[in-house]
Amino acid sequence: MINNEALLNAILDNISDAIVTIDEHGIIHAVNKTVEAMFGYSESELINHNINIIMPSPYTELHDSYLARYLKTKQKRIIGKSRELEAQRKNGEVFKIELFVHELGLNKEDRFLGIIRDISERKQMEQMKAEFISTVSHELRTPLTSIKGSLGMVNSGVLGELPEKAKRMVTLAHNNTERLILLVNDLLDVEKIQAGKIDLQVVKVNLTELVRDSIEANQSYANNLQVSVILLGSPEDYFVEADNNRLMQVMANLISNAAKYSPKNGQVEITIQADKNFIKVSVIDYGLGIPKEYHAKMFQKFSQVDSSDTRKKGGTGLGLNITKAIVEHHGGQINFESEYQQGSTFFFVLPSWQEPAKPKITSPEPLSAAKKVAGKILVLEDEPDIAKLIALMLEQESFLVTTCSSAEQAKEILLNESFDVMTVDLRLPGQDGLSLIKELRHQEHTQDLPIIIVSAEANNVKNNNITSGLRVIDWIEKPIDQQHLIESISESIKKEGDYASKILYVEDDKDLTQIMTLLLEDKVTVVSANTLQQAKKLLQDETFDLVILDVGLPDGTGLDILPFLNTHLSTTPIIIFSGESITEDVVNRVDAALIKSKVSNNELVGTIKSLINLK
Ligand code: ADP
Repeated sequence: MINNEALLNAILDNISDAIVTIDEHGIIHAVNKTVEAMFGYSESELINHNINIIMPSPYTELHDSYLARYLKTKQKRIIGKSRELEAQRKNGEVFKIELFVHELGLNKEDRFLGIIRDISERKQMEQMKAEFISTVSHELRTPLTSIKGSLGMVNSGVLGELPEKAKRMVTLAHNNTERLILLVNDLLDVEKIQAGKIDLQVVKVNLTELVRDSIEANQSYANNLQVSVILLGSPEDYFVEADNNRLMQVMANLISNAAKYSPKNGQVEITIQADKNFIKVSVIDYGLGIPKEYHAKMFQKFSQVDSSDTRKKGGTGLGLNITKAIVEHHGGQINFESEYQQGSTFFFVLPSWQEPAKPKITSPEPLSAAKKVAGKILVLEDEPDIAKLIALMLEQESFLVTTCSSAEQAKEILLNESFDVMTVDLRLPGQDGLSLIKELRHQEHTQDLPIIIVSAEANNVKNNNITSGLRVIDWIEKPIDQQHLIESISESIKKEGDYASKILYVEDDKDLTQIMTLLLEDKVTVVSANTLQQAKKLLQDETFDLVILDVGLPDGTGLDILPFLNTHLSTTPIIIFSGESITEDVVNRVDAALIKSKVSNNELVGTIKSLINLK
């Protein structure tokens, strides 16, 4: 018979986790052999020493007080649970561990048992996986965007009509690119969700309106399958706190599934029901239904009912898994009821919007929403209150306003930035308004700048001959008539539509640059930069109306020039066009963030259009 104690010790020493017991003061009383291998301390260096010897700062300093607090309050923060923490080896190396702490309650000496697992390798693998995914997302999305963009253009006929057979092939290729993009995006979404990195841009959302929008957005998909989608009843407006785009994704998945599995000429019905605390949205179809044996697996990854079946409808089997994660991240729940051959009802419930007790920090705009700027205006006015007033009047109408108080200042600003219109006060300290305009008309970059005079002497000077040749668009008397000012500015911007805006496109993928140039060539001038360095040089030498930035560049990340753009060219709109999604912090510093392959040619042009004048 083997001695029981010897057996137990042998087991403990051969476990790959380190095992430690400590007393109520944190003093180590027993360790297994693994501790030595994991931490580099011999048994004698640990026994009778404080456990904080194997912890890095700040845990070293804090551990005694944790323990004291537990003994006093009995509040279990880590006891009985596993936690990921950091530990420190004898050689100073800090590494990731998973720690389980149990209270043994045997005696005061061996009061707590700690089981420590070295997870540094696992963490390293996770990090590598995350990096791999981010690389794949960038590497796949960029060429896919090129393919989708070119095929889209060829397909639309703008490059000339194709023979019927070629057109069919191009359509086939286009559709398959869409499928591939769908799969890549779904895979990336799943990864993100698994890594807990699903970032929601929550705002107050009118769910009823969103459901209506989603029906409209998915109507043509359903129509292609000869299925109609309708909203039952006329529900009132219900509000939730949510990420608009992500909820649209949920609705798109449920509606497209319902349509896919409906019979021809079938109908998908949507209902919205609410009580005080919750809102329920149901998507009902009268189609194929889901056999009982598949019910438990419906929300699992890659789960498709019977892959060989008549049900082959395309799809990745990831949709419902993503949908569930999104709903749950919103504090909601999703489920379904289904009768085989009779149809299915998928429904989700979200907590309804509650007025915040305290003023809320305003949430950033959704990822793809661009701030629409009506035009960039430079206001030259030395009277601070009037400058403020003009700025206010213009900002109300979505103009982006820069104010300055002297001719010298105005000249300096105009050297670095371009504007759609400038307003000039005549009487100024130093150089007066008229001589400034004369000077500006002799310089290449301002000779055609539309200028409006806003001055108390406007009418007097207007009738004076000296002003001919200054090409002043309008003369506005003080006190300023807001309507007149706005109309006059809008008018001159409209006329300016003929002027081709200049875009700087910072992108290292040559194919994509070519497609973008082709896509925009009759609307704007596209100047491209392949590296950060080139971009910086161009930004210093030339003025641009818009900057489109890729994130991954050969010599750094496009985000590196954001601080430069934000400080020196604060009014130049920026679009991030990248293979990876962008953090909230960055989204707040740019005008729009678009993800490659997720936007169509039209959406891209639309976003650019909302930020600058397009022909
Ligand atoms: P995908 O539709 O991309 O394959 P989903 O995760 O959205 O992936 O759906 C998984 C599977 O669940 C589908 O392949 C289909 O077999 C089944 N399913 C989903 N919705 C319905 C529905 N409304 N009616 C019948 N089957 C459905």
